[in-house]
Amino acid sequence: MADRMAPSSAHVNEGQSVIELLHSNITSSLLFNIIQPVLMSFSSNNLLPTVDNLRKRNDIYDDVPCPACRDHEETLNHLVICTGLEQAFLTAEKETIDKIRKYLKRFKCKKSVTINELYISIFEYRDPAFPELKQRNRQELLRGLISHTIVKKLRKLTSKRIASLLSLKIIKYFHEAFRKHVWKPRCKMMNELKESLHITHQDKCKTSRTHKEDAETQRDHYRHTLTAFREQKASKYNEGLR
Ligand SMILES: [Zn+2]
Repeated sequence: MADRMAPSSAHVNEGQSVIELLHSNITSSLLFNIIQPVLMSFSSNNLLPTVDNLRKRNDIYDDVPCPACRDHEETLNHLVICTGLEQAFLTAEKETIDKIRKYLKRFKCKKSVTINELYISIFEYRDPAFPELKQRNRQELLRGLISHTIVKKLRKLTSKRIASLLSLKIIKYFHEAFRKHVWKPRCKMMNELKESLHITHQDKCKTSRTHKEDAETQRDHYRHTLTAFREQKASKYNEGLR
């Protein structure tokens, strides 16, 4: 799965500021409306530099966990449901909805669209009937994909023409909000984690998976630090229980 998402020949830079879309992983484009202009402008390498992707080019990340929860592997699958980023995602989704509502005002819709209707149409998992859609819903939007069910719901609320204009805006606004509220703070957490793991700028700039002589020693250091993180977390949790 991860290989399909990140071809080994792809160039991954951790410093990439923009969201890379993983459309190489689209299993069937027939299932989606693919927003081509957005894909083209957002995607040069088709990869979000999550830890699993960085690891493909640099062994320094071998034992680095998700910087937000420090408890899981950081993959796109995890990122969108990471508890450490949940509030950030909710903020990004709210900002997207606010901008869509503002954009909708320029059209004369036959009936007014409520904020709740917009939420459950665009972020389908907000519908109490489909909470399990969260991971898929967020991932698809990040990949620049709007599912047919979303488009159908938007058509019902507005019109065919407005729904297709809205689809473009949803992807644009969600990417902007994701970058601001999720990815930027995630990168800040990543820098803090790297600092505590003593990953240097030189280490980061390596672009091949060749081991340095002291790679094993460095890994021991990571493990030691990560165990300390987890113990600290567990003791905080236990204190909370008392
Ligand atoms: Zn996490």
